Amino acid sequence: MLVIGNWKMNMCRSEAKLFLPALVRQLRSRSLQCALSDKLHMSIAPPIIYLHELISQIKNFKKELTHTTFLNNFNVTAQNASSYANGAYTGEVSASILEEYRDGNQISVLIGHSERRSYFNEKNNILLNKMMLCFNASLIPILCFGESLNDRSNGIYLKKIELQLKDTIAKVSHENISQMILAYEPIWAIGTGQNATSEQIEEVHNYVRLLLVQYFGKIDAFKISILYGGSCNDLNAQNILQTSNVDGLLVGGASLDVSKFCNIIEIANELS
Ligand code: PEP
Repeated sequence: MLVIGNWKMNMCRSEAKLFLPALVRQLRSRSLQCALSDKLHMSIAPPIIYLHELISQIKNFKKELTHTTFLNNFNVTAQNASSYANGAYTGEVSASILEEYRDGNQISVLIGHSERRSYFNEKNNILLNKMMLCFNASLIPILCFGESLNDRSNGIYLKKIELQLKDTIAKVSHENISQMILAYEPIWAIGTGQNATSEQIEEVHNYVRLLLVQYFGKIDAFKISILYGGSCNDLNAQNILQTSNVDGLLVGGASLDVSKFCNIIEIANELS
């Protein structure tokens, strides 16, 4: 089970600095830190400039809290990586630059978030490049996919999702496939307060699992975690996490609030 908090372009530096200590404090006060399942993995995707600080904080907590291992399962996620390997691409951060910050941590990278697809015109071929560069740099790509409200109303959502996957994950080699994660994020559910229902999530996740079996065979298909994202919070997390083929959550807005994020971790822990 994996829970990732995507901060997007939020939090000033002082807020970002206080988040992990506050989260650890809450986990400790709820006596959760020792009781966290080793099957539960957590991560935060901060604005890129805070990534290094967060990695250092995790490292320091690991040194300080030697009696507990829960931070071993706490990692960081980058919100993006360049589709270019290196060179004159002002403003970009490459997968290999991110790799240098790993420092014993696992770094995953959000690829193809709907905000990147729509505001920055990122097409499937660009996303595939990014994924390949992540594999080369030993980073874990988290490929986001999902349909628009129009696609859903017109009943073509499964077709649209299939096209997104056919041009991206279906082209990944068997060797790399266990190093990747998927996140189903219906565009109409992101930041709207209207999460998809369990039935809607189950239909898509089951369909995607079948596609993965077609692409990679049964054994590899079940190695790939499929997260759900889109208006998840501490009130709907339990229901969503109990849905078949849901392996975790990608949480946007609710991950900015330490208590809500801690509640979600607590729920995920109970179900891990
Ligand atoms: C997201 O952007 O990945 C997301 C799921 O956002 P929210 O939870 O705010 O809908």
